[in-house]
Amino acid sequence: MRFKFGLILTMIAMQNNNASNPFDRDTIATQQGDLVMTFIGHASLMFEFNNCILHIDPVAGEGDYTQLPKADIVLITHDHYDHFDREALQKILQPQTKVFLTQKCSWTSKTGSPVIMKNGDVQETDGIRIEAVPAYNIKHMRSPNNPFHPKGEGNGYIVTIGGKRVYIAGDTENTPEMKALKNIDVAFLPMNLPYTMTPEMVADAAKAFKPAILYPYHYGSTDTGILLQLLSNTPEIEIRIRDLQ
Ligand code: ZN
Ligand code: ZN
Repeated sequence: MRFKFGLILTMIAMQNNNASNPFDRDTIATQQGDLVMTFIGHASLMFEFNNCILHIDPVAGEGDYTQLPKADIVLITHDHYDHFDREALQKILQPQTKVFLTQKCSWTSKTGSPVIMKNGDVQETDGIRIEAVPAYNIKHMRSPNNPFHPKGEGNGYIVTIGGKRVYIAGDTENTPEMKALKNIDVAFLPMNLPYTMTPEMVADAAKAFKPAILYPYHYGSTDTGILLQLLSNTPEIEIRIRDLQ
């Protein structure tokens, strides 16, 4: 009895050790090594590939960026506070960091270099190809004719890493451009109201471009179970639910 109690305490201690890295992560094998994806929260992600660190929409409220590796590459999808946060950026920028961002993200940092990308632009750095694609609302409006995300302002990004095509959609709906995408290995699609997509819109997009792996992200209080149900007849898409509220 005493021994068992001690064992349980040891197991609890081991779990607490793991808590020093509090984030979920998944590893994807590529032609050139593993891509490790860390799910920091909401729209904030971190990718590690062959010693290259790529941060996406780093936001201080989602994680302690002083405890995370500094960036070689940063992708910012648009200027909203839950995507573009100078406080988080300051903690991960190095002189050599390249920050890909949109025109509306005003750059004030003395460290790192900004590279403005418009929808359709393509850049390549550290062997990683970065394509900016449209991210915008069709249905969901802040006020009549005033979408939360006007067409042309925000970017989604398709990054090609070791031959794998990873699509980070940004804040968008199921646009014709999204539905026409091809050969997406991993997709992050936003699923919260009123700003982005309903589960029905995410399912509609996923059925159209069929990513091999789908992560709903930026999902707030949306019930991810609805998406699982809507895509239950689409076994070719692996849906992964992670802590990305
Ligand atoms: Zn937004
Ligand atoms: Zn957002």
